[in-house]
Amino acid sequence: MLRGMPLPRPDHDTQPFWDAAQEGRYVVPRCAACGVGHWPPGPMCPHCFGDEIAWGDAPTRGSVYSWVVATHPVAEVLVDQVPYAIALIDLEPGVRVVGNVVGCDPSAIQAGMAVEVFFEEREEGVRVPNFRIPSGNLEA
Ligand SMILES: [Zn+2]
Repeated sequence: MLRGMPLPRPDHDTQPFWDAAQEGRYVVPRCAACGVGHWPPGPMCPHCFGDEIAWGDAPTRGSVYSWVVATHPVAEVLVDQVPYAIALIDLEPGVRVVGNVVGCDPSAIQAGMAVEVFFEEREEGVRVPNFRIPSGNLEA
């Protein structure tokens, strides 16, 4: 977990995501016409251009598509927290999200590695979703 980072600032497009995160749910926008989820949130389905979007639960497990390991602190609060990993996670077809992968050595992250969503408790009761290796799935 990265300490001291700014808290989320929900806007019109992301308010449902952060509201669900407070309840411990990871949701994504899903198209009413084709049923496919997408990320990032927006007013239109990127697959069929439908404009009726409803939020729904996403799988709580996914796999690492790609990642970077930050080794240089870009802010004073990160000086003692590098290295850390920022990854693209495939949760389901059409839904590739961004998050930190924590709880493992960043150099051990591999493409296709299974990860699960968990919720960090931040200041003032704010919950922020991130990813970790599922318990029992530690790979050598
Ligand atoms: Zn669609």
